[in-house]
Amino acid sequence: MRAHPAGPRHGDLNALSGHVWPDGVRRAESGELQLHGHVVSSLARSFGTPVLLFDEDDFRGRSRAYADAFTGTDVYYASKAFSSVELLRWVAEEGPGLDVVTGGELAVAERARFPVDRVLFHGNNKSVDELTRAVGLGVGRVVIDSTEEIRRLARCAEEAGVRQRVLVRVTVGVEAHTHEFIATAHEDQKFGFSLASGAAARAIELVLLQPSLELVGVHSHIGSQIFDTSGFEVAAHRAVELLADVRARHGIELAELNLGGGLGIAYVHSDDPANTHDVAIGLHAIVERECRAYVLSVPRLAVEPGRALVGPSMVTVYEVGTVKHVALDAGASRTYVSVDGGMSDNPRTAPYDADYTVVVADRHSDAAPMLARVVGKHCESGDIVVRDAWLPDDVRADDLLAVAATGAYCRSMASTYNLLGRPPVVAVSASGEPRVLIRRETVDDLLALDTGA
Ligand SMILES: *Cc1c(COP(=O)(O)O)cnc(C)c1O
Repeated sequence: MRAHPAGPRHGDLNALSGHVWPDGVRRAESGELQLHGHVVSSLARSFGTPVLLFDEDDFRGRSRAYADAFTGTDVYYASKAFSSVELLRWVAEEGPGLDVVTGGELAVAERARFPVDRVLFHGNNKSVDELTRAVGLGVGRVVIDSTEEIRRLARCAEEAGVRQRVLVRVTVGVEAHTHEFIATAHEDQKFGFSLASGAAARAIELVLLQPSLELVGVHSHIGSQIFDTSGFEVAAHRAVELLADVRARHGIELAELNLGGGLGIAYVHSDDPANTHDVAIGLHAIVERECRAYVLSVPRLAVEPGRALVGPSMVTVYEVGTVKHVALDAGASRTYVSVDGGMSDNPRTAPYDADYTVVVADRHSDAAPMLARVVGKHCESGDIVVRDAWLPDDVRADDLLAVAATGAYCRSMASTYNLLGRPPVVAVSASGEPRVLIRRETVDDLLALDTGA
């Protein structure tokens, strides 16, 4: 259970905690939130609410900074965090490669004309159709996740007359989430081949027997929203051990080591994510040290950030519809502030116990801080946007609320529950006019699939 917040996270409810909001967000003298000088309430009027405002410059800047920090490492953007054709054009321009998990995510890359040799295809159950398409397009790498896939992919590559580069996904027995990691032999999950049981070694052997597959390395992904980076170090240590074992058994040195994604971001003021430069330097140091110990050539490293690149760049703007004070036991009360979206545009709060920062976006308020629960409009009591939010106690219907750091796993995990259309994503930058990357889903869109309509 999360501790009940004791007081406002920072003294002034109007102040913005810098590391939680995109670079382009400011509160103007008028009290209005602005994004690159565009008043948020005007954007809300133009595009409607809820709306996801995407700070393009913030995203591009972070992608470049990431590539800089990880010089000498291949960076793949994990597009499941959020994908759109235009966004993938930015990614292509800024340098990272792309990680896709389905034929759908691959199709967005195709439409964006993303350089296919920089695409890496993940997934624990890729279909023959998806593999055929990927091989046909010439994707740079396929990360193999099952024994069936080895045979399926080998056949696809053979039929296409190509030698497909692959990595084998390995479960190294490390699980990391936010502040902690656990390193055990326990590997109860659907992804990858277990290192401890010998399944990884057997998969590697089988891949090496396929003339149409070229094994270039191994892959490990240990979790998400990670602050404690020692989990990566244990993973790197175990993965290098496997590379040494591969050399001992097969006489080959694999060239690539992909350590997956998972670096955390700040959702609330107290979140203190690891510094990207430090993580990059730390990973290189540990891999070099381990390789020296085994007298092994140092493999090329790769990482796959999703949340860390896109998460901080978006803000969701909602309109308040109702404010309800509910009496609790012992004279206490709770204030429910209902907004015009909810679990359909941000499904993270209930399953991940996720926390967010929320402020009134269209005015300054000197009212006293009040602990409120920001909820959506869905028929679910678990439909919570922010469980415990400090808002001014004059918060009222028609106020706009802005929720920070909604770029990752919100729009991409959005649903049409209660037949509420999914919100648009609007790109805003310091140059040029705001533009819609993904438009709002209408009732006609929703009914388009209904053959009785
Ligand atoms: C989800 C995932 C990522 C991205 O994770 P983030 O936490 O968003 O960085 C990268 N690689 C793999 C294999 C994943 O499953």
